[in-house]
Amino acid sequence: MIVTRFAPSPNGPLHLGHAYAGIVAHDLARARGGRFLVRIEDIDGSRSRADLADEFLADLAWLGLAWDGPVVRQSARLASYGAAAGRLKAMGLLYPCRCTRAEIAAAATALGPDGPVYPGTCRTRSVDPEGASWRLDVEGAMARTGPLEWIDELAGPQAARPDLLGDVVLVRKDAPASYHLAATLDDAADGITLVTRGADLFAASHVHRLLQALLGLPVPTWHHHGLLVEADANGLWRKLAKRRNAPSLAERRRAGEDGPALADALRAAAAGRAPFPAGISLAPALHGEP
Ligand code: GLU
Repeated sequence: MIVTRFAPSPNGPLHLGHAYAGIVAHDLARARGGRFLVRIEDIDGSRSRADLADEFLADLAWLGLAWDGPVVRQSARLASYGAAAGRLKAMGLLYPCRCTRAEIAAAATALGPDGPVYPGTCRTRSVDPEGASWRLDVEGAMARTGPLEWIDELAGPQAARPDLLGDVVLVRKDAPASYHLAATLDDAADGITLVTRGADLFAASHVHRLLQALLGLPVPTWHHHGLLVEADANGLWRKLAKRRNAPSLAERRRAGEDGPALADALRAAAAGRAPFPAGISLAPALHGEP
């Protein structure tokens, strides 16, 4: 049986792009007789807003997307993230780093999908671990696991290239896990068999595959869906963010809009049976980047 998930971060209100992500995960599960889970990624203490998680659930219910089982909150799982980080440290695969964003940008020699790639500055340095973040020694980790593969339902089999993102942070200076570590552990803990998320996170899956191998976790299949995009002031397509003048899902819900009708309109547009709302388009997701 397949198990999919929708995993929003409560840093800001949900918009149409989130609605689409929720619909994809929900509909894949329903079409295949599987389960659809919801996880609140509220690990970021400084940006997470407790009130937003309840709004998200109300938005999903309003859209007609019913989830199965209890809603998982990452903030309740910090101990398990710390334990996994401890195992990786004991394997000698994490190292402390105190580099700032500006220092990384100045030292980087490669640009990855998320910006300048961390060039491994602290890998061979001795850095005071107090208050530092901890990075994964990707080369050392790959030497341990050997070549890895993973499968995206849409893009096909992938040779894992975690090096594309560089030595990512796994333990933040202000939290026991980064997104990469927490999401990988949660997908395993929740029995997710089909990781559904936007193509903007395609590169992250290379890293997650490596973490699964290091920690002995089951390997799911991935489904990186296309992203809703909008034209910016220069006419370039950008991932949909909360549009300056577009209402959030919560605002639409409060205004009495018909949620299931909105979800059906998005389904019809994504299937090419109807147009998207003005100014919005769907970027196909074959190789990760829209
Ligand atoms: N929390 C992430 C986001 O809101 C999604 C993470 C995932 O689906 O793996 O963009």
